[in-house]
Amino acid sequence: MHISKKTWFFIIPAAVIYIGSVSFFIAAALKQKASVPVPAVSENLTAELTDENAEVRIAEAAEATDEISADAEYELPDLVPGQGGLDLSPAEISKEDVPELYYMVYRLKPGDMIGTLAEDYGITQDTLISVNGIKNSRTIQIGQYIRIPSIPGIVYTTKKSGETAQTIAEKYNVSADKIAFVNNKGLEEELKEGLTLFVPDAELDWVTRQEINGDLFKRPLRKGYYFSSYYGWRKNPFSGRRTFHNGIDMAIAKGTPVYAALDGRVSSTGWDNVYGNYVKVAHHSGYVTMYAHLSKITTKKGAYVTTSTKIGEVGSTGQSTGPHLHFTVYKNGRTTNPALLWN
Ligand SMILES: [Zn+2]
Repeated sequence: MHISKKTWFFIIPAAVIYIGSVSFFIAAALKQKASVPVPAVSENLTAELTDENAEVRIAEAAEATDEISADAEYELPDLVPGQGGLDLSPAEISKEDVPELYYMVYRLKPGDMIGTLAEDYGITQDTLISVNGIKNSRTIQIGQYIRIPSIPGIVYTTKKSGETAQTIAEKYNVSADKIAFVNNKGLEEELKEGLTLFVPDAELDWVTRQEINGDLFKRPLRKGYYFSSYYGWRKNPFSGRRTFHNGIDMAIAKGTPVYAALDGRVSSTGWDNVYGNYVKVAHHSGYVTMYAHLSKITTKKGAYVTTSTKIGEVGSTGQSTGPHLHFTVYKNGRTTNPALLWN
């Protein structure tokens, strides 16, 4: 296969970075035996995934073919064995009770699924998601490197100082001995804030799992709409300037019922010059949703609503070029892409 100079220009630095990071990783693992590396999150997230049978299917990214053929030139092994191992245990547990914690590096291939990979390595989907800092299963792409730990569990970062293996074990209903053992800590040892630990056998909570699977929300319109504008940068139809569109626009006839996207309590309703008639609903886990340009509001502040509660009707009030629902999702006060949170 012919490789142009330009291609080598990319391959060589990539190889250097890869080898560098792997050796750093191994060195770090050797140095602090049971330390848990901070998961590296890939920022280059472009591929769309389809969710089948609760498995995560890794779709082929457009540019992935080039990346993979480039990779084949220096023949990276699929798996690079990690280093680990523990010689002594501060906790009352023996090496036979807990298999050692070490990591392997794996590069995702077309057709790989998080669920089957997890099964192959005797761990769980939660383990792979947590250890690799995967925020949304639809944004994983082939060619991405992931870490595969030798035992199931999740990564946990202490929220405040004074937490111990025991308090963390209670939180996840798992063995405190195992936590202490794999992290090389004492059972009662008070940990400092912001410390990252590996919690063997722990599972993600259901909200996190729904966020990652992208099925936390139901769509506020049930059928017959089309997306007239997505979340992100766009040319504003009024000013002509590039502005950030903080929600998703769903175009449909005036009067179409609008439902809450998740159970919650109406935090405000009213009028805004841009959003027209709007409803805001507060949900668990720091989520707030907003429904704008309504022709009619059919709920009121303080009302508890479910995903089958009609909260208003589609309209074109405020700054709007035609009947549509503008839907915004806030997580802890910041907007987020609604399309990643529903199926
Ligand atoms: Zn909009």
